Amino acid sequence: MASVVDRNDVRFEVCSRGNNARFPASDSQRVAQVEYCTSAEDVVRTLQQAIDRGQRPTVRSSGHCYEDWVVNNPGGVLLDVSMMDRVTTGETPGSYVIQPGAKLGVVYERLYKLGGAVIPGGTCYTVTAGGHVSGGGYGTLARMYGITVDWLTGVEIVIVNQAGKAELIHADAQHHPALFRALRGGQGSNFGVITAFHFAKLPPMPKQVLAANISWDWKEMTREKFVRIVTTYGDYWSKNDKNPATYPVFTNLVIGNSKSGRIGLGLHYAQTGDDNEGRDWVQEYLNLFQTCKPSAEAPPDYLQQQQDFGQQQRPLVGDTVCYGTHPVRALNWVEATVNGQGGSGLYGSNRRRSKYKSCYMKKGFTVAEANVLYDQMTSDATRGLILAIDSYGGMVNNPARIADTAIPQRNSILKLQYQSYWLNEADDAFRLNGIRQCYKAMYSTPSADPKYPGYPYPNENFEGCYINYADADMLESPEWTTLYYGTGDLYPLLQQVKKEYDPHNLFHHSMSIRPKA
Ligand SMILES: Cc1cc2nc3c(=O)[nH]c(=O)nc-3n(C[C@H](O)[C@H](O)[C@H](O)COP(=O)(O)OP(=O)(O)OC[C@H]3O[C@@H](n4cnc5c(N)ncnc54)[C@H](O)[C@@H]3O)c2cc1C
Repeated sequence: MASVVDRNDVRFEVCSRGNNARFPASDSQRVAQVEYCTSAEDVVRTLQQAIDRGQRPTVRSSGHCYEDWVVNNPGGVLLDVSMMDRVTTGETPGSYVIQPGAKLGVVYERLYKLGGAVIPGGTCYTVTAGGHVSGGGYGTLARMYGITVDWLTGVEIVIVNQAGKAELIHADAQHHPALFRALRGGQGSNFGVITAFHFAKLPPMPKQVLAANISWDWKEMTREKFVRIVTTYGDYWSKNDKNPATYPVFTNLVIGNSKSGRIGLGLHYAQTGDDNEGRDWVQEYLNLFQTCKPSAEAPPDYLQQQQDFGQQQRPLVGDTVCYGTHPVRALNWVEATVNGQGGSGLYGSNRRRSKYKSCYMKKGFTVAEANVLYDQMTSDATRGLILAIDSYGGMVNNPARIADTAIPQRNSILKLQYQSYWLNEADDAFRLNGIRQCYKAMYSTPSADPKYPGYPYPNENFEGCYINYADADMLESPEWTTLYYGTGDLYPLLQQVKKEYDPHNLFHHSMSIRPKA
């Protein structure tokens, strides 16, 4: 039996909120009750009862959703599956089953213990498999192993059929194949309640990780230097995306507004061979930025700040393996990955108001784009803004995955995440204006499609946005679904799947798939 927390319960305020302190935006948006399910049978029963009472269901694994999809459900039921958090071996050798409530930190730890395997997903400890995997799942091993849905081979999901009955089904390449494809990146919240993810095999964990950080202080920054850093960073990946020698690499250029942050470059090299693998590459790569005179590494308070905000800069732990121009640390895989970093979930001091935006880039930055970014990041209007530019190409760009997953962005070299975090509601307008202003300016240069100024519509330079970096502002653009699902056959297929597997459109939110008419 699910455990119920309703409005009369002292736990209700905490249990009915999201990780983003902006949501729910008002008390009237809150659900009537939260129901904590502990098994697939529990989900079927609880969902059926909600339907029979005429209540709309929303689903939560951790509550890390960037927008209000989970907690804006007036009078509805929030099905919480955070306690369905097992990570086990599957029936066949080398296979694994991950329940949706498993926190990523726990997933890495269990896979490490069970068989030295990994998912190539994100490393925020408290994000859970439910939303992360069903929406894609990118992480530091993406260039080497692709994204998490590329490895997914089956999903157990409770849907509500035409007759209004909750039903547990198993989707894979043979059974419900269209639904299975939709669940490989199309976001589970569109279709039902996922109760398990199956992986017939997973890649091996790296033996060791080389980590390095360099950073720049805005006090020493000039426009010319900034443009050089940003274009050097992008040009490298333009030229080297398809070079297998760079597949073990993840880089992360993080630019904070000049009034409130620094500029940092984090690097993560996953060694699968001997201890010397990649060391020369790391030094050569960091040397590319030498003329820009970085500090050898970011100061500890900067790294702490990045950790607090769930960024992927590595903390300063582990043995220093070489003192060349740039200190590089060697960390064993599990320590490098499982260190409790990231958001706090629904509780704790990390719970802040936030806003995010995203963009996939197929090429490096033009000088014009870098100049716009400089103007934006030195503007008072964008105080508090952070832009993280991640190197997600390599095996992510396997063309075979366009047709069998719901992530069509397979030609990009960089994924950008614009982020703003603040504490007080009184700052909402300022912070939201700041991030929106920067984004609009960045996609109004000659690189963007002139038909859609202000948005990174798919063209020769951009490939749209990432659904797991949800951004409801995109709904204002003329064809927002193209931004997330591309120009091909994917969105019509998702609409068809929606019609077939959620015929009553019970699983909906502001950015859900619109059912085919
Ligand atoms: C601190 C932080 C760091 C992040 N880092 C990364 C990263 O490195 N890489 C990356 O790719 N993304 C990253 N993300 C984005 C993250 O992948 C998405 O926010 C993801 O949707 C969160 O899933 P969740 O289950 O943790 O959150 P939830 O809020 O529980 O769920 C998010 C969405 O998924 C749906 N959902 C959740 N569980 C289920 C289920 N069982 N069945 C059906 N639908 C479900 C919810 O309804 C909701 O719409 C990060 C987010 C945060 C907050």
